[in-house]
Amino acid sequence: MSLPATPKGWAIRLTQILSAVQGTHGLPRFPIDVAALAQDFSRQVFPDAPITIVRGLDLSKGVEGMLMPHPNGRGEWGIVYNETIRSAGRRNFTLAHELGHYLLHRRAHPGGLKCTNRNMADWDEARNRIEGEANTFASYLLMPLDDFREQIKGRVIDIDVMTELSDRYAVSLTAAILKWMTITDKRAMIVVGKEGFIDWAWSSEPLIRSGIYYAARQTVVEMPAASLAAQDVDWDTGRHGRLHPAGIWLGAEPVHEMTVFSPGNEMSISLLLYPDRAPSRWEMAELEEEPTLDTFDKFMSGNAG
Ligand SMILES: [Zn+2]
Repeated sequence: MSLPATPKGWAIRLTQILSAVQGTHGLPRFPIDVAALAQDFSRQVFPDAPITIVRGLDLSKGVEGMLMPHPNGRGEWGIVYNETIRSAGRRNFTLAHELGHYLLHRRAHPGGLKCTNRNMADWDEARNRIEGEANTFASYLLMPLDDFREQIKGRVIDIDVMTELSDRYAVSLTAAILKWMTITDKRAMIVVGKEGFIDWAWSSEPLIRSGIYYAARQTVVEMPAASLAAQDVDWDTGRHGRLHPAGIWLGAEPVHEMTVFSPGNEMSISLLLYPDRAPSRWEMAELEEEPTLDTFDKFMSGNAG
C-alpha cells in the first residue's frame, strides 16, 4: 500500500485505521488519542524511525511544541508539547500538529522543527507551507469533516457551541473556531488579543470577499477600545457577547462579538459575526464618504493576502 503524500491524505488514512480499531474494540470515535496513535502507527509503518517520545517538556515561552530527533541518535523521533501549557486541548492539537510534521516533513528537516504558538494558527498553506500543512493534517485528523458538519448542522454558532466542539475533539477553542471558519458560508472573524493588541486575526472566505480582514500580522493594531476584548467583562457577558454598532470593529456594519479570556487573562479570543448579507454596493456607497468608483472597486475586489 502506497503512503499518502498530502496532509489530508495522511489524516484520512489514519482515520480509516482508527475507525477499524475502534470498531473492533467498541471504542468511542472521539476524542482521538494522538499520543497512542503516533507511537503505534509509526512503529508499524516506519520501524526504522519510530516515534518513541511523546511528552511535555519545559520549553521556552512562545514555543508550543517540537518535532525532534531522539537524542540517542538511532533514528527515533519525539513529539513534544510545552508542559507549561495546561490546556489539554492545546496539548493534543500540538501533538497532532507535530505528528503532521513527522509524517510530512521529517525527511526535509532531519534536525526537527520548533513551532510557536502563532504557528498553530498558520492555517494558510499559501502563506506558510509547512505550518499550514501540519495544521491541515491536525485539523482533519482530530475533527473529520463529516462529523464536524454533523455537529454544527442547523445550530446557531456561538462560543458555547465552539467550546462544546473543542471538548468533543480535545482541541483548543481557537482550533475549533478556525476549523469552522474554513468551512462556513457565514461572514465571521476570529481575533486573538494579547496585552491590548491584536495578536492575529483570521476572516472567513465570505468576509474576505467583502474586503473585511486584517491584512498583515506584522502590523501592530490596537484592540478597539469599545470591544469586549478590550474591557474587563465577566465570563457570562463575554460568552453571550454584545451587538456593536457599525464602526467598533472593521467594516461599516454592526458586529456581534463574543469573547473569552484565557486563564490569567494573557489572551483573549473573540468570535465576530457579521450580518449574513454583505451590504450592497448601493448601501455601501451611502455609508462611505463619496468614494470614487475606482477605490470602491478596489475595496470590493478584496485584495486578500
Ligand atoms: Zn509546526
